[in-house]
Amino acid sequence: MVNEALGLFFPDEVERIRQNKCPLCSKDIIVTSFTSELSLKEFHISGMCQECQDDIFNKGDDILNEGEIFIEGGEVYGYR
Ligand SMILES: [Zn+2]
Repeated sequence: MVNEALGLFFPDEVERIRQNKCPLCSKDIIVTSFTSELSLKEFHISGMCQECQDDIFNKGDDILNEGEIFIEGGEVYGYR
C-alpha cells in the first residue's frame, strides 16, 4: 500500500512501487526474498527491496559503531 500523497512529491518512486520495483535500485521486488517479517513491514512502508534495506541498515550499524547511541530491538539505549 502506497500513500497517494507521496506521488505528489516522488512521482517516479511511487510509479516504481506501483510496478513492483524497488524505488531505490529499480529492481523487481520478489516478495518471497524478504528475510524477515520486519523487512516485509519495511517494504510496505517504503517499497524498498531486501537488498536496499540491508544496505541502509548496515550503514546504520556503521554510524552506531562510531556514535554515541545504540539501538536494539527498536529501543534506543542512549550512550555506550
Ligand atoms: Zn532495491
